[in-house]
Amino acid sequence: MTALTNLLDLDPAQLTAYCGELGEKPFRAKQLLRWIHQFGAHDFDAMTDLAKSLRDKLATRAIIAAPAVISDHTSSDGTRKWLLDVGQGNAVETVFIPEENRGTLCISTQAGCAVNCRFCSTGKQGFSRNLTVGEIIGQLWMAEFELRKSKGVEPGHKGERQITNVVMMGMGEPLLNYEPTVTALKLMLDDNAYGLSRRRVTLSTSGVVPMIDKLSQDCAVAMAVSLHASNDTLRDGLVPLNKKYPLRELMAACKRYLEFAPRDFITFEYCMLDDVNDTDVHARELIALVQGHTGGPAVPCKFNLIPFNPFPESGLKRSNNPRIKAFAQILMDAGIVTTVRKTRGDDIDAACGQLAGEVQDRTRVQERMQKMTEYQQKFGKNFGRIIEVSQ
Ligand code: SF4
Repeated sequence: MTALTNLLDLDPAQLTAYCGELGEKPFRAKQLLRWIHQFGAHDFDAMTDLAKSLRDKLATRAIIAAPAVISDHTSSDGTRKWLLDVGQGNAVETVFIPEENRGTLCISTQAGCAVNCRFCSTGKQGFSRNLTVGEIIGQLWMAEFELRKSKGVEPGHKGERQITNVVMMGMGEPLLNYEPTVTALKLMLDDNAYGLSRRRVTLSTSGVVPMIDKLSQDCAVAMAVSLHASNDTLRDGLVPLNKKYPLRELMAACKRYLEFAPRDFITFEYCMLDDVNDTDVHARELIALVQGHTGGPAVPCKFNLIPFNPFPESGLKRSNNPRIKAFAQILMDAGIVTTVRKTRGDDIDAACGQLAGEVQDRTRVQERMQKMTEYQQKFGKNFGRIIEVSQ
C-alpha cells in the first residue's frame, strides 16, 4: 500500500504537478489550494466544485492533516497557545497573540533547536528534528480555522481573517530548516492560500549568514535578527553560532538583505540580561555597531528589547525596568527606533524563550504526551483542550 500524500506538504507548484500526475488540469490545484487554505477543508467530499471522480481519487491517495493538538490554552490577556504533537515524543508550540488591529501567530520550524542560545529554554532541550512543510504551514492552518471556529467566524473569503501576521520566532532556527521553511513561506504569501503580504511575515534568525543571502533571492520576507550582544566576545557566549558567523559578517548580510526586503529596516531583537548585556557601554557599542563605526556597514534598523524570561538553568536574570528604559533611551537618543516587548501570556508560559513550557528534556515532553494519550482514552478525545478565559 502506498503512503498517503499530505496535501499540506505541497506548495502551489507541487500541487499543480500532483494534479498532473492524477491526470487533472492545473486549475484543479488552485481549487484545492483554496479549499485547503481558505476554507480549512480536510474532507475531500466537502470540496463540492471538484469532480466526483477527482474527489474519489484524492480520498484514496491523499490526506490533509496538521499536527494533532495536545493542549490548547488561552491566557487571561487573550494569548492562545497550542502544544502540538509532531511524533516520536516531540512536541512544538504555536502561539497566537491578539492585538487591537492585528492577530499575530508565532510558529515553530524545528522540534528543539541546535543553536543553544544561553538565554533560551528551547535551546536547552537540544535538537530533535526539522519540521516538514505540512507541520509548519499546518500550524497556521490549524490556528486560523480553530480561531474562526471559536469566534463563530465563517471560513473562506466572507469570514474575517484572524491571523494577519506571522512570525517565525517559535522553536527552532528557521534558516537551519531551509527548504520546508521557504515552501511554507510561499504558501503564506500565495493569493490562493493565505495571501499575506511579505511585510506581514517575519522570519527571525540567529544569524545563519549564507542562508540570509539565499532567502533574499528565494522569498524575501521581513527579517528579524536575534542579536542580543554588542560585541563578538559577548555574543560568542550568548549565541554560539556567532563563532561561525561573527558580527561583522552578520551586519554585512543584513545590509545585503535589505536590498531585497519588503521593509527598509532589520529588526534586531535584544534580550535584556541583568549585568550581562544591559549597561550604557553596551548600548553605545550597539549604536557604533549598527551605524557602521566598527568596520562593518551601517544597517538601517529597529531595536526590540525583550525582558528576559528567567528559567533556573540559565543562571541569568532579567534586567530591571528602569535599566531597560535607560538602555532604550540611549538607543533612541541616537535616532534608533526602539520598542520594549510587552510580555504576553506569562500565565501560560507563552512568553518568548519559554516555548515548550518550563525547561524540560525531551523525555519529559514524551512523558506528558503519554499521559495525555492515557487521559484521552479514559476521558474522551477532547481531554486536554482546556480553554481558560478569564473575564
Ligand atoms: S533563541 Fe532561537 S536560535 Fe537560539 S536556541 Fe532559542 S530557538 Fe534556537
